[in-house]
Amino acid sequence: MDKKQFATERVDRIARDMLTIRDRLFAFAELPYREFKSAELLSRVLRQYGFAVTEGAAGIPTCFYGEFSNGEGGMTVGFLGEYDALDGLSQKAGCTVRDPVKPNAPGHGCGHCCLGVGALAAAVVMREYLIAAGLPGRVIYFGCPAEEGAGAKQFMARSGLFDGCDFIYTWHPAGRNGVDVSHSNAIMGANFYFRGRTAHAGATPYLGRSALDAAELMSVGCNYMREHMIPEARIHYAYIDAGGTAPNVVQDRATVRYEVRAPYVEQVKELYQRVVKVAQGAAMMTETSVTPELAMAFTEYLPNLALSPIVSRAMEEIGAPAWDESDYALARAYLESFPEETKEVLREEFMEAYGEDGWQSRWERPLDGEIRPFSPADIRLEAGSTDVGDVGCAVPCVNLLVATGAIGTTAHTWQFTGQAGSVLGAKGTLTAAKMLSLAAMLTMEDPEAVAQAKAEVKERNGGKYTCPLPDDVLPPIDTY
Ligand SMILES: [Zn+2]
Repeated sequence: MDKKQFATERVDRIARDMLTIRDRLFAFAELPYREFKSAELLSRVLRQYGFAVTEGAAGIPTCFYGEFSNGEGGMTVGFLGEYDALDGLSQKAGCTVRDPVKPNAPGHGCGHCCLGVGALAAAVVMREYLIAAGLPGRVIYFGCPAEEGAGAKQFMARSGLFDGCDFIYTWHPAGRNGVDVSHSNAIMGANFYFRGRTAHAGATPYLGRSALDAAELMSVGCNYMREHMIPEARIHYAYIDAGGTAPNVVQDRATVRYEVRAPYVEQVKELYQRVVKVAQGAAMMTETSVTPELAMAFTEYLPNLALSPIVSRAMEEIGAPAWDESDYALARAYLESFPEETKEVLREEFMEAYGEDGWQSRWERPLDGEIRPFSPADIRLEAGSTDVGDVGCAVPCVNLLVATGAIGTTAHTWQFTGQAGSVLGAKGTLTAAKMLSLAAMLTMEDPEAVAQAKAEVKERNGGKYTCPLPDDVLPPIDTY
């Protein structure tokens, strides 16, 4: 059987159905942990295509998985799908001027409407492949909520959902095509609840103990701490509750949320403990109390080195999405829609990537028609964080990037939403489905590479995945 042909034909056969689902996910645009309609739709479609679905997995209502087994034994392949949206990024599909479907509403500014259904299409095709080839094996589609929020995959990994998988593949909408060579930062996030004593701020301030003062002193302490941490590390914070709006009342409560990032989860754990000490110091200085509540944590993502070359080969065999002139014009209009300062930076990036002579013609037709070949030397630390990191720390995992929009368009923008919902997103989604299914077919044929990939994971996790969150930290649904 010609595997490339099989992957291509089968994805094309279900393309219309899949793109309708993409459109519906795009319209739902649900926030993290609240993806009820999206999860219900994807679960229903999985059942229609012959998968047995388990809902409410890992203690999260919108987390689910669908599995299909052909015969006994064989390898188990997993695909990860995401489907949550971002607040405030509503934008009409294909529209190149700012025009939200609904003002201030959530939108798919990270393209998860494409991600979720592209991975599902790959699972459907792999099921058909096992049957057609008479191969024993199992296919599992993991519905993973809240990637943009506090995550789900670390909880899924902690509850052992990925344990039976030999390898797991996923993709992400992007401006370029190639195996994802980013080393994402590990992250930990916590709410710090300060409690003090209220009093009339004018008449009897000496009777009060300000929780807001404590929260501010915590900021001061963390500012001093910044000089004494590794330069790659980051500390961000936000006031969740400033203790009310009355300056003439001593604030008896305040809540601040802190997030700490660093290249490796062990570094983050250490930094987090230091932040807790700063908070305790601030409480001591103000005679208030503080309760830290650790709520989220992701392990760093690193591509699996043993499997990345196989995925890269599958991507090259399928090839980049086939763009036409109207696609280029659309992508160009999105590129031009950015503010002048952003375009300045983008032009420099184009020059760096395509040279003095080539960058302008690429700017005219800004869609990636190539596959960047995988090279471990290209792995770079990226500032962002993702819960896919925890999957890769539990089982061999590779993320691939497929263009769903103009080169240089960054995620979490209305431009990304508009493109994800457009013909560009559609082409990228179908291409990704073909690449993912072919990559899985090729990997199943290579037990040696899979064994090597597992050894690589074992070296990283010491033999067993450890969740960066203790067992008593439950998914922070509606609290983070
Ligand atoms: Zn994303």
